[in-house]
Amino acid sequence: MNPNFLQTPIPYLKGVGPNRAETLGAELGIQTYRDLLHLFPNRYLDKTSYYKINQLQPSGADVQVVGKIVHIKTVEQKRGKRLVASFIDESGQMELVWFRGHKWIRENLKLNEPYVVFGKTTRYGSIFSMPHPEMELLSEHQKGLKVAMQPIYPSTEKLSAKGITNRVIGKMMQQLFLESKGQFPESLSSTILDELKLISKSEALFNIHFPKNQELLARAQFRLKFEELFYVQLQLISKKLIRKQKIKGLPFENVGEKFNVFFKNHLPFELTNAQKKVIKEIRNDMGSNAQMNRLLQGDVGSGKTIVALMCMILAIDNGFQTCLMAPTEILANQHYSGLKELLGEMEITISLLTGSTKKSVRTRIHEQLENGELHILVGTHAVLEDKVQFNNLGLAIIDEQHRFGVAQRSKLWHKNEVPPHILVMTATPIPRTLAMSLYGDLDISVIDELPPGRKPIKTVHRFDSNRLKVFQFIKDEIKKGRQIYMVYPLIQESEALDYKDLMDGYESISRDFPLPDYQISIVHGKMKPKDKDYEMERFVKGETQIMVATTVIEVGVNVPNASVMIIESAERFGLSQLHQLRGRVGRGAEQSFCILMTSHKLSEDAKTRLQTMVRTNDGFDIAEVDLKLRGPGDLMGTQQSGLLNLKIADIVKDNQILKTARYYAIQLLKEDPKMEKEENKSIRIAYTKMMKQSSIWNYIS
Ligand code: ADP
Ligand code: MG
Repeated sequence: MNPNFLQTPIPYLKGVGPNRAETLGAELGIQTYRDLLHLFPNRYLDKTSYYKINQLQPSGADVQVVGKIVHIKTVEQKRGKRLVASFIDESGQMELVWFRGHKWIRENLKLNEPYVVFGKTTRYGSIFSMPHPEMELLSEHQKGLKVAMQPIYPSTEKLSAKGITNRVIGKMMQQLFLESKGQFPESLSSTILDELKLISKSEALFNIHFPKNQELLARAQFRLKFEELFYVQLQLISKKLIRKQKIKGLPFENVGEKFNVFFKNHLPFELTNAQKKVIKEIRNDMGSNAQMNRLLQGDVGSGKTIVALMCMILAIDNGFQTCLMAPTEILANQHYSGLKELLGEMEITISLLTGSTKKSVRTRIHEQLENGELHILVGTHAVLEDKVQFNNLGLAIIDEQHRFGVAQRSKLWHKNEVPPHILVMTATPIPRTLAMSLYGDLDISVIDELPPGRKPIKTVHRFDSNRLKVFQFIKDEIKKGRQIYMVYPLIQESEALDYKDLMDGYESISRDFPLPDYQISIVHGKMKPKDKDYEMERFVKGETQIMVATTVIEVGVNVPNASVMIIESAERFGLSQLHQLRGRVGRGAEQSFCILMTSHKLSEDAKTRLQTMVRTNDGFDIAEVDLKLRGPGDLMGTQQSGLLNLKIADIVKDNQILKTARYYAIQLLKEDPKMEKEENKSIRIAYTKMMKQSSIWNYIS
């Protein structure tokens, strides 16, 4: 085959032409033969087997059943009518249902004649129903041509409107295989093929599009998923290796005086073993010649801040400056005052830089950064501005990474001639599989232990109708001297509405918790930072007992005396957000509570989220559920979902394959870092091509 065959523009394919090419490009991003070849079916219709009605499973799979219609009736429902046919075979009874085209169907369906029906089934109570089945008389069906496994390709409304149906795509694919004779270059080494008993690339591509049977389809899928994940891992890991070899890090060789003084005189508690372990890992990194790029994972309240501070002191001991960046002003403020308190009288200079820092202060900070007087800069995005120039930035820490994009990480890299060490701290644990893909180029540390003496938070779900009881409970807690958070959702698309909800809530709470017995703070996104701080401050000092807020308080805020977290309209929050919010309580010695308030109307997903919250306090557990519910793209926010743009593999479901792929990628790079060996030639060629072609390979700074 001509080596550039797969680069051929799609209009050259017989049967495509400029119009169809344009639609294919716009709708499915198909520009070349290669793109078409890698348009994998979403699913397959298995027409090789027939099910008995009593064998049906509520799996939503497409199935084929032979039987007879014995009865048809029209059922009135709220919106329009539905046509329902009772369909039986010797094993049982099911329903065929139509919501449209009743007249035609009634006139054409034959009662008591054997039919083959094909479609998805769903179960209502004990009976299965198949909406809008494909139907064929058994006699016709037996005459017809049998396609074993029919691939179903991704489709869009525009594609169907322009006549590019599933059949048309199937035809194009056939044409492509005809022109290529079904021969495609192998892209894995024979070692890998042998060890994993993978089928060849050509065989896999053939069977993904024209599966001969279930088994070959499964092997084709396995091979292609493995290959896809293997190359992603290869990319991530080789990036990491190159960085470690090429980029010299700033060596922090001394554990100096300041660190020791802090450790002896300022550490307010004994570090947990997990904290010690992580500090050691970080110290090793920073003491080596390589630049550190480390992700620090730890559940809410696991004590990441102190770890961050001790690493900063290490940097300072070695003559470097450091910065700590947080996603919100409230959190930056809190870090600033928290760190200041921890540092006490130590000779370490620290300043805060946010959007609302006054010009004069800002100018002073800029100066002190440039002349090296300032040791620690705490701030928000403001830290990234070009005007902010360091004398010698040695360590940059990003807290609550999921709020920041990858771009910010790379901006920090360039704040120093030699890239500073980078420590990214996540607020929400990330499932291992996802971390391997998203942060495969980072080293990972985990704090897997909470500080001692924490009482697990009790979480309950209450319906709005129980509000009075909940309010009584709050009053009792306040009587004991506790403080309460009440959080309202804030979803950007309907900010006005959310604001109204918040204000209505605030008013009703003010009525139920009247002055002078109760003092209430309120914090929301529409307030000026100054007012926000003032209200926050009152709550922190214990002058107010109730804090009514939107999710601005989600991250980081630390008020140990607050023991109850009420989340209003909890069904509207995502799991990680709920977990974050809950983490605001349970920080003191008292028993803490989280009350999830909802209406009675709950989606299945919402129920799962609430049940998960009630069931467990473990952030890693919650993250796994979240990943399953939402899929990897959503979980990390839209900014980063692009990098999970996998064509066939699914990070959640193909977790095991991912691990294998990662293992093989690591092995390969260990044994043959430049992929020079003859047996790895096919991998090198495919890899080089990929690196040149596709922009998703360049997603990481
Ligand atoms: P997060 O990991 O969520 O950022 P923080 O760093 O804010 O957690 O720590 C949560 C609370 O736990 C803080 O009040 C902190 O002082 C306290 N803390 C941290 N480490 C320990 C420890 N080893 N022993 C006791 N308390 C600790
Ligand atoms: Mg924190």
